Amino acid sequence: MSFWDLLSEISDTIDVSSSTNERFPDIDWWCDHCGAHLNDQTEFDDHKYTWKCTECGFKSSISKDNIFD
Ligand SMILES: [Zn+2]
Repeated sequence: MSFWDLLSEISDTIDVSSSTNERFPDIDWWCDHCGAHLNDQTEFDDHKYTWKCTECGFKSSISKDNIFD
């Protein structure tokens, strides 16, 4: 098991208690440019209004206007 697998397992377990702190619990955010899963990126925080993708550097807006169901 890699370090990152371990880390994601740990964050899965603590997700239940920390999810109430998210502005948009249950919402997955994707980079508008490269399609990367932003929620998984280091220090991703949905309280920010924009998020700079760590993969490509594109700034996606994190707002309810940007949620497509
Ligand atoms: Zn990207």
